[in-house]
Amino acid sequence: MSDCIFCKIINGDIPSMKVYEDEHVLAFLDISQVTKGHTLLIPKVHKENIYELTPETASHLFSVAPKIANALKSEFEPIGFNLLNNTGEEAGQSVFHFHMHFIPRYGSGDGFG
Ligand code: 5GP
Ligand code: ZN
Repeated sequence: MSDCIFCKIINGDIPSMKVYEDEHVLAFLDISQVTKGHTLLIPKVHKENIYELTPETASHLFSVAPKIANALKSEFEPIGFNLLNNTGEEAGQSVFHFHMHFIPRYGSGDGFG
């Protein structure tokens, strides 16, 4: 989609700090990290939200999730993670290209939750 920020990141029109990439998905650091290493995982195909994901796309996203968590664990040494998706404005979604947040946790006072 031409006016989608995340499609522009996939196309390289907007720069990003890549954490992981393959044919189907891209993971990159959030521009406004709620904790150190906050990362977004997105499908390369434009799907607005969880309702629109095909089982194949959902399956691929989850199949790479452990790789991303392990890469972030090695790099940032968190003591835990929150994985979350916001679907719908009322749930806090602000970019309407499906994404999963990987939020590394560092203990109370880390700024999230
Ligand atoms: P949502 O609120 O839709 O669940 O999450 C959208 C996320 O995208 C936010 O955490 C926001 O900081 C991030 N974001 C928005 N625009 C950009 C951008 O241009 N680059 C990057 N790396 N992250 C972005
Ligand atoms: Zn998009």
